Amino acid sequence: MKRIKKTKIIATLGPSTSDADCIEKLINGGVDVLRINFSHSSHKEAEALIKDIRQVNTKLNTNTSILADLQGPKLRIGDIRPDTNLKDGNKISIKTGEEFIGDEKTIFINYQSLPNEINTGEKILIDDGKIILKVTDTNKKDEINAEVIQGGDLFSNKGFNLPNTNISQPALTEKDIKDAVFSAKQNVDWIALSFVRHESDVKSLIKLLEKKTDHRIPVIAKIEKPEGVKNIDNIMKYASGVMVARGDLGVEINATEVPLIQKKLVYKAKKARIPVIIATQMMESMMESLNPNRAEVNDVANSVMDGADAVMLSGETSVGKHPIEVIQTISSIIGKVENSNLISLKHKHPTDYDSERFITKSICYYAAKIANDTNAKAISTLTNSGYTAYQISSWRPKTHVLVFTSNKRILTQLNLLWGVKAFYYDSTESTDKTVEEINKIAFDNNYLHKDDKVINLTSMPIHLKGMVNTVRVSKI
Ligand code: PGA
Ligand code: MN
Repeated sequence: MKRIKKTKIIATLGPSTSDADCIEKLINGGVDVLRINFSHSSHKEAEALIKDIRQVNTKLNTNTSILADLQGPKLRIGDIRPDTNLKDGNKISIKTGEEFIGDEKTIFINYQSLPNEINTGEKILIDDGKIILKVTDTNKKDEINAEVIQGGDLFSNKGFNLPNTNISQPALTEKDIKDAVFSAKQNVDWIALSFVRHESDVKSLIKLLEKKTDHRIPVIAKIEKPEGVKNIDNIMKYASGVMVARGDLGVEINATEVPLIQKKLVYKAKKARIPVIIATQMMESMMESLNPNRAEVNDVANSVMDGADAVMLSGETSVGKHPIEVIQTISSIIGKVENSNLISLKHKHPTDYDSERFITKSICYYAAKIANDTNAKAISTLTNSGYTAYQISSWRPKTHVLVFTSNKRILTQLNLLWGVKAFYYDSTESTDKTVEEINKIAFDNNYLHKDDKVINLTSMPIHLKGMVNTVRVSKI
């Protein structure tokens, strides 16, 4: 069987990886999804990157997926005078209104309503919690006074988090709407929304995208606020995937809470049979060093064993010194653990007997089970929407999940899903012929060898392109 890893790698593009040559090296190293972060990329830069990715895909015959990440209601401070240092115990004033250059006495923030929405005693965490302020009073209009609880060097435009404050800012900012419309026009494969709090946040993005495209672009909800964790069941009804966004999550909620939230989100996502991404600080030390630290290696391995579909790199590949080495290292960590029996998924087979999709869902469940029981080398499925790929992948069979589709759009979309490898196939002559042909494609691509067993899922009659309703076990 072809030794291709099943857990997917997402790499964020940035100044360290901004040309086609780099993109090619990342893909050859094992990257499955490239992330464009609209917190830092202009439309012009994004357009060039998307063009490069598609050219490299054609050249290498790969299906690398493009993920557009919307900044969401990220709060930021303004410019700060160089060499500004905040001292523990000092007083500081935080102002809205006209933007100005801040210093150790006064700083600007980009959110007008904050003085009105924040309360005395609440905390303001700047720069991923490196600096902590506590509100002493607010004039409820344009100025907040605070005390420095944990000081340090303060830099321009750093993000800040308000773990105790309920803010009213909408999930989709003006900037997000522009970035989403741009991404839809570019036909990206996935769009991620930051700081999702309620299902309505996801719904409003879906609605916007529906107006802008004639096909569905799946939305990933980034879970990085306590409300997002609390409302996860409802959010998952609309999101096509979730991200455990540990960077902001670890500031918004105590970082010690994150490990169990990660387990819970992975469990719930696999139960809902949508992909789940683990993000941030996975290989952080490799921004500078050629070797990761031991805790990072264990973290990546444990994320794979938890059952993540994908692990994500941010600064490591966008601004780090060793983007290619990071990919080689994380690929090799994944390769060591992903075929272990320790990947444990405890969810049960589908029981929604009355649902329209029940037959297809249960076929996918049993296909994964038969594949494991008979030591089959692949499960293959024919799909138009990609639905069965999500279903089979979520059961984490020991085999690869080979997907055959005539829908070119989903070839790249499905590349984010654990174990899934998609091929273009467009013929509806007869089921017998189709099974023969797709098994040959799998054979020619080294996923199957002589005498291997393969589980084929099809829909009969084939020309109707209906939902999967047939399981066949064949021997090559
Ligand atoms: P970001 O999201 O990199 O866009 O902030 C990921 C995270 O917060 O972990
Ligand atoms: Mn974030």
